[in-house]
Amino acid sequence: MSKLIYAFNDENSSGKDLLGGKGANLAEMTRLGLPVPDGFTITTEACNAYLASGESLTSVLLEELSDAILSLETRTGKTFSDEDNLLLVSVRSGAKFSMPGMMDTVLNLGLNDENVEKLAAKTRDARFAYDCYRRLLQMFGEVVYGIHMSVFDTIFESYKEENKYELDTDIPADGLKEIVEKYKEVYLEETNKTFPESPIDQLTEAVEAVFKSWNNERARIYRDLHDIPHDLGTAVNIQEMVFGNSGDNSGTGVLFTRNPSTGEHKLYGEYLLNAQGEDVVAGIRTPQEIEVLNTQMPEVYEELVGITKNLENHYKDMQDIEFTIENGKLFILQTRNGKRTASAAVKIAYDMVQDGVISKEDAIMMVDPKSIDQLLHPQFDDEALETAERISEYGLPASPGASTGMVVFSTERAKELGEAGEKVILMRPETSPEDIEGMVVAEAIVTTHGGMTSHAAVVARGMGTCCVTAVSDLKIDGENGVATYANGVLKEGDIISVNGSTGKLYLGEITKKDQEQSTEFAEFMTWAKEISRMDVRMNAETSKDINAGFEFNASGIGLVRTEHMFFQEERLIGMRRFILAQNHAERVAALDTILEYQQSDFEEIFRLSGERPVIVRLLDPPLHEFLPHTENEINNVANQLGVTTELLKSYITNLNELNPMLGHRGCRLAITYPELYEMQTEAMLKSLIKLKKEGIETNLEIMIPLIVTAEEYKTLSDKIKARAESIEAEAGVKVNYTVGVMIETPRACLTAEEIAPLADFISFGTNDLTQLTFGFSRDDAGKFIGEYVDGALMETDPFQSLDINGVGQLVKMAVEKARAHNPNYKVGVCGELGGDPRSIQFFNDIGMSYVSCSPYRVPGAMLAAAQSVVK
Ligand code: ADP
Ligand code: MG
Ligand code: MG
Repeated sequence: MSKLIYAFNDENSSGKDLLGGKGANLAEMTRLGLPVPDGFTITTEACNAYLASGESLTSVLLEELSDAILSLETRTGKTFSDEDNLLLVSVRSGAKFSMPGMMDTVLNLGLNDENVEKLAAKTRDARFAYDCYRRLLQMFGEVVYGIHMSVFDTIFESYKEENKYELDTDIPADGLKEIVEKYKEVYLEETNKTFPESPIDQLTEAVEAVFKSWNNERARIYRDLHDIPHDLGTAVNIQEMVFGNSGDNSGTGVLFTRNPSTGEHKLYGEYLLNAQGEDVVAGIRTPQEIEVLNTQMPEVYEELVGITKNLENHYKDMQDIEFTIENGKLFILQTRNGKRTASAAVKIAYDMVQDGVISKEDAIMMVDPKSIDQLLHPQFDDEALETAERISEYGLPASPGASTGMVVFSTERAKELGEAGEKVILMRPETSPEDIEGMVVAEAIVTTHGGMTSHAAVVARGMGTCCVTAVSDLKIDGENGVATYANGVLKEGDIISVNGSTGKLYLGEITKKDQEQSTEFAEFMTWAKEISRMDVRMNAETSKDINAGFEFNASGIGLVRTEHMFFQEERLIGMRRFILAQNHAERVAALDTILEYQQSDFEEIFRLSGERPVIVRLLDPPLHEFLPHTENEINNVANQLGVTTELLKSYITNLNELNPMLGHRGCRLAITYPELYEMQTEAMLKSLIKLKKEGIETNLEIMIPLIVTAEEYKTLSDKIKARAESIEAEAGVKVNYTVGVMIETPRACLTAEEIAPLADFISFGTNDLTQLTFGFSRDDAGKFIGEYVDGALMETDPFQSLDINGVGQLVKMAVEKARAHNPNYKVGVCGELGGDPRSIQFFNDIGMSYVSCSPYRVPGAMLAAAQSVVK
């Protein structure tokens, strides 16, 4: 086996794998010439060998350890027994990834009854020496012997109380001596062992304790939660002590090189004079803000500022630094890349590019695409959330945001109250296209069923409306207009708050924090757009959404769903007449009543988009969705249409399908009723012609959904083109349009070489393709998919992140088949996976021309697309 121990200044040491994060950075800082107390690191391999050998320290390790101590003694000119130059060390654990739950640090190791007197004599400060000793006894007792810290704390606090000392630093040397004696008794009482007086024994026991702590339960749970492998092992750092507690010219502190919540370029941190280790964070005394150091110790402050710049330039990232000052001399004890909020991440990345520290590519890699959501949607105030009363424990964060409003249980009430200016939360078991008007006015949508791709979730994300689905511990009783939860009942009008970013519901109103987009963010996003190879389009149809998406720099529209153009009141009648029609002429007449509405809808979309490409998907849902369901509605509609209730009901029964997801929908509708797509084509073409006459250029891409065969595609596209040409001829104007195919069935993937040459473009619909490849209904999969993901039967929910090995391979194959005859063939993805970073990486790698997702996911997708290129 290779070397088990590396000194911090060893030229040949490197890497977090072997040295752990803390050790690697201590070595790095030593090489940079920073004031780091000397020391050495025992490798993670030594830890693994220890654990593998049934937890015993091998003679090889013991030998290397004693050599390492000898050379540390030589380098520092100190030893574990020298009365003038006494060596004391800290023992610090440090795995590759920072991991709470591992063994804590032991400071002042090497002290014993004899050495403490030597330290007192040498420093002429018995108080200081005994303060170090009592700290060692506490830390060693806790982390090596497992004695609860509260046992020591109780002794310490009651001593202060009995003697009326307010601060730790008020206790004189004699008092600390007394406390030390009591601590030693604790060892006997709690463990039947005495405190080991020999420094070498202290050291080996501490090292073993660090090794063992790798496998303690807290550490294991943490690793499971964060997908950290269990076989990495931890390193141990042994480092010469420096003393922040040796008087008022000493101290200890922590700082971030920039503000971790706003990103402001200004040191952010705290320190305490005459203190050691974790005193700063333990809240024993109130720490000072870091700038105050500039007045207390200007030279130290200046040196610290220089070092923070040096470290940032070296690591090219914001640093989280721990330091100690001993008698006016500064030491750096730790540095690592600092954790930060999303807005801080963007600001820091931006500023570092401006300062020439990093490239735009580096900056792009510094921000997590998933965190971008936080910047676009309002958020609740964190403190207010903690004290708020929770309504539910379960619920999926289907569409981010933070909303407060009054509960309503129906679309009608949502409309009435919403139009009267009230803020409403629409609460339903699940939503259907008929709820659209209620959903539009709602501040938030809550459903007790459905999952991340349910109707409510998809529509809400599209609108940027806050939405929580699958709140399984809330029961809606629509009849009585109440919803019950574990601790109570909600009635219409009750005020609740919905957190779409976490899936949690709260009683009452919760204060929000401001969410304004910075100029830095806008600029940062233009870099992402420059760097990415793929375009990012939006899925949108309302002007509000389209404007939002273009605001975020979407390069076009990847999916206009035309369903909603059939669902508003007046059009629904036309559609219902169409369904009840007896022949072609009647069908055309019924559709004619919808034509003009659609034409003006399209006109608005095309006007907003101009020359940017727009894909319009022709009608997709099964016809029964357009018919009424409840007895009451059926009566009303029969009246409206002038037919008998019985007749209407017979149509409803006829259209009823055992498996509507696999039934008469998508392009199959137009095979039966070509009039549908012809009407939609006419509406689109007429609006294009109108715009062209106004001098507005456009770029329409007509898309046929759910295609399974080349013949089917040819039949339909011929009819569409024929209608388009006749409209053009009639007007004497030529406009810009192409016709393409939505590939969302496995068969279409398998036969893409037949279909693609007939079409101008392909767009993959990943929701249906996933559903059909797995044979999982996406509306029902929510009931069991959790078990697959939790039980590691599946890595991720395939409706949330692309199933690369299955669905992904179908997509890849289809792209290859399509590109075989034309390497530049345009292929894209619409559907929610187009907004998922992991899926985006795959789409980039297989050469997709663009991805498309709901407007509020566009910035995150753009960032992920840029990262895919840099990676
Ligand atoms: P953590 O991983 O919990 O941050 P550390 O190993 O960084 O644990 O130790 C915690 C604190 O102990 C440090 O921030 C520092 O204040 C103190 N400390 C560690 N080693 C030394 C040392 N050699 N000299 C002085 N203080 C030390
Ligand atoms: Mg700690
Ligand atoms: Mg630390």
